[in-house]
Amino acid sequence: MPIVKLTDAKTLPLPDAVLEALGLTAGDPVSLEIGEDGALMVRRVVVAEPVIREATSTLQQSIHRKNLQTPMQFIKGVGPKLAEQLAKKGIYVVEDALFLLPHRYEDRRSLSKVSKLRPGAHEVFYAEVLSFEAKSTKGGKRFLEVTAGDESGSITLKWFRFNPVFMKKTWRVGRKGVFTGEVVQYGFQKEIHHPEVEWLDEGVDLAALTARDPLNFGRILPVYPLTEGLHQKTLRKVMKEVVDRFVIDVENHLPPGVMERHHLMPLDEALRETHFPGHDADLARLNNGATVAHKTLSFDELFFLELGLALKRSGIVLEQGIAFQVTHKYTRELLKLLPFHLTDAQRRVLSEIKNDMMLPHPMHRLVQGDVGCGKTLVALMAALVAVENDYQVAIMAPTEILAEQHFLTIHRWCDALGIKVSLLTSGMKGKAKSAVLEEIAAGRTSIVIGTHAVIQEKVEFNRLGLGIIDEQHRFGVLQRGILKRKGINPDILVMTATPIPRTLAMTVFGDLSLSVIDELPPGRTPVETRVAFESRRSQVYGIIREEVKKGRQAYIIYPLVEETEKSELKAAAQMAEHLARDVFPELRVGLLHGRMKPEEKESVMGSFKARETDILVATTVIEVGIDVPNATVMVVEHAERFGLSQLHQLRGRVGRGSGQSRCILLSSGQLSEDGEKRLRVMESTNDGFRIAEADLEIRGPGDFLGTRQAGLPDFRVANILRDGRILEAARGEAFAVVEKDPGLVDGENAGLRQELARRWGGRLELAAIA
Ligand code: ADP
Ligand code: MG
Repeated sequence: MPIVKLTDAKTLPLPDAVLEALGLTAGDPVSLEIGEDGALMVRRVVVAEPVIREATSTLQQSIHRKNLQTPMQFIKGVGPKLAEQLAKKGIYVVEDALFLLPHRYEDRRSLSKVSKLRPGAHEVFYAEVLSFEAKSTKGGKRFLEVTAGDESGSITLKWFRFNPVFMKKTWRVGRKGVFTGEVVQYGFQKEIHHPEVEWLDEGVDLAALTARDPLNFGRILPVYPLTEGLHQKTLRKVMKEVVDRFVIDVENHLPPGVMERHHLMPLDEALRETHFPGHDADLARLNNGATVAHKTLSFDELFFLELGLALKRSGIVLEQGIAFQVTHKYTRELLKLLPFHLTDAQRRVLSEIKNDMMLPHPMHRLVQGDVGCGKTLVALMAALVAVENDYQVAIMAPTEILAEQHFLTIHRWCDALGIKVSLLTSGMKGKAKSAVLEEIAAGRTSIVIGTHAVIQEKVEFNRLGLGIIDEQHRFGVLQRGILKRKGINPDILVMTATPIPRTLAMTVFGDLSLSVIDELPPGRTPVETRVAFESRRSQVYGIIREEVKKGRQAYIIYPLVEETEKSELKAAAQMAEHLARDVFPELRVGLLHGRMKPEEKESVMGSFKARETDILVATTVIEVGIDVPNATVMVVEHAERFGLSQLHQLRGRVGRGSGQSRCILLSSGQLSEDGEKRLRVMESTNDGFRIAEADLEIRGPGDFLGTRQAGLPDFRVANILRDGRILEAARGEAFAVVEKDPGLVDGENAGLRQELARRWGGRLELAAIA
C-alpha cells in the first residue's frame, strides 16, 4: 500500500533543483506518495492549512527516524571492513554512532612547552628528535628510546613494541613532529610511552597545523571508547561526518517545562557539544561528564526509563487487591514469644508493610536489609497478618537449603501459635508430595515454604493472599509475576539481602516501594576480614584449630559457580576428605553441597547446628540464610573467584553471635586488578551498602546483580554512579507527568508515549512486574 502524506514543499528536504524540476515553489502544498518500491511521488494539491501542518510533522518525523536508521556503511569514509568493525562494537546505524559518546577529551587547543608537560596529563607538544636508540630491558626485552625536545627542555619517549625496519626509515635526528600521549613520572624523569606522532615540516606552527587538519588540531578532541583495532583518528572522522549530517534528525522529546527547570539543552545540540565541544568548553567538566550537554543526554535517557516505570507502577496501584485487617491476633502473640525485641528498623519497616497490606490494592514492596538484620522475622510477621485474615502465604526461597532453613525457623514459631506450615521441596516424591499439595489446595495449611521451582509447579492455592520472595536478586523478575498469578492479586513482598545502591534500586525495582532495615540487632561484633595468600595456608589452619579449641565452629567455602560443575564439586569433596584425614584428624569435618539429597543436607546442617561437627566444608549453598551463631571462622578458598556481593553474603554466616568472628579470604595470589580490588574492599568494610557501591564501581552497572537478566536496560549514556542526582530529578519529572496524565493521552504527552515505546519497547516489560 502506498502511504499518502500531505506536506508543504517548503519543508520538504528536497534540493532546490528537484523542486524546480517538479514545478514547485516553496510554500506550495503537495501530496507525497511513497510507493512500495520506495519511490517518492510529489504532486501539487490544494488543501486547507491545518491538515497540511499535521501531515507535515508526521512526515518529517518519519524522515528523521529513517535517517537515524541509515546503516553505517552508507557513511562517507566507512568501507565494508570498517562497517564490520563497528558492527562488532554494536554500532550498526547512525543512531548507534551518535550515542557512542567520547569517554574522554584531549586538549589540542594549544601546544605545550616540553618543560611544562605535567605528569598524569595527556599532553600535546611540538618537539625535535634529539636522539634515538634501540635498547634492552634487564629482562632482555627490546625497546626504542627517543629523546625529543624544544628550546625549553627535553623528554624521553619509549616504545615497547616497534618495528626496527620502519624505525630506521622514520626516525632521524632533527626531525620535527607533534607528539601526543600521557606523561608519566619516573623519579626525576618524565616519560611518555607509545605517544602518537605527527611528523611536520620545518617551521610549521599550530596555526598551520590546524589549517591542514582542523579535525585533529587546534581544538578539544573527543576520544572514543571501544576502539581496539580501530584508530581514533579514523573513528573521529566518521563521527564528524555522522554528527554533521545527522544530528539535526535527532528530535527533542523532553517537555519544554522540564528542560527549563533543569537547565537542559535541545538533544541535538547536546550531542553536537558532546562529540565536538566548542573552543571554550570546560575540559575538566567534559572529562567528568559534568557539562550541560552530558547532563541533558543522561536526563533524557533516564527520564524515559522512569516514565516507563511510572506508567507500570500507576497501572499496578489501580488494581484491585486484598484489604487486610490488622487484628494483632498472632503478631502480638509472636512478639511475646520472642526472646528479644524488634529493632527500631524492623518495627518501622513492619508498619510500612502493614499499611500497604491494609490498602485495597496489591502491595509491591521491596524490603532491603543487610545480611543478618532480621528480615525473616519481618517476613513472618507479615505472613501472620495474612493468616489472621484467613489467607494463605507462599514463601519462596532461592535454594532448597534455604527453604528448609526458613521452614525450620518458621514452623517452630508457628507451632507455638497453632498455625500450620508446610514445606514443599522438589526432593519430595509420590504420596508425601501429593499430600502436601492436597493440604495447600484444600486450605488446610496456612504457610507454604519452598523454592521457586516448587511453587511454580502444579501448586494450587485455596486462598493465596501474600507472596514473599526471599533473596530477590537470585530470581529473574519474572518469578514475581508467576507467583502473583497463583492468587487473585495477592500482596507481594520481596526481600533482598543485597543492599542495592539507592540509585540502582530505583531503576531495577522502580515499580516496587522500598523499605530499608538499616540496623542490625544489638550485640553483633563486626567480622574481622583478612586476605591471605596460599603460602600462609598452614597459619590459616592454625586459626581454625584455635577457634575450635575454644568451642567454636568453622566454615570452609569452595567456589562453585554452577552446582553442576562436577569437577569442582569433586574438589570440595576431596578437600573435605583431605582435611579430615591429614589436617584435622582430631576434629569432626562435615561436607555440604547442592547436589546432596535434601535429607542428607538436612542431617549435615542439623549436626553442624547441634555442634556435632566442628568444621563444615561447603560450596556456596550456604551463601544465604544459614544461621549458626556459634560459627566464628570462615575461610573462603579461591576467594578471588567470588563476586563482591557473594563474598559479603558468605561472610554474613559468621558474626551472628557475640563472639569475635573472622573471615579469611584465601587467594592463589594471581589476582586480576579487579580481583585484588574486591578482596581489599572486603577487608576494609563490613557495610553492605558500601560494598554494593564498590561492586557497582568495579563491575559497572550493566553487570551488577546480573542486571541484564533482571531486565535492567543497558544505558547508552547515563552512568548510574555519576548520575544519581539526575536520576532522581528525572524520576520526579517523569512521575509527575504520569500522575497528571496516567495514560499519556494528552496532546503534548502522546509524543512521549510514542518515543517511550520506540526506545524501550519490550525491554521495559521485563524490567517491571508482570
Ligand atoms: P537476614 O536478614 O539475613 O535474613 P535473619 O532473619 O536470618 O537475617 O536473622 C538473623 C538472626 O538474627 C536470626 O537468628 C534471628 O533470630 C535474629 N534476630 C532477628 N531479629 C532480631 C532482633 N530484633 N534482636 C535480636 N536478634 C534478632
Ligand atoms: Mg534471610
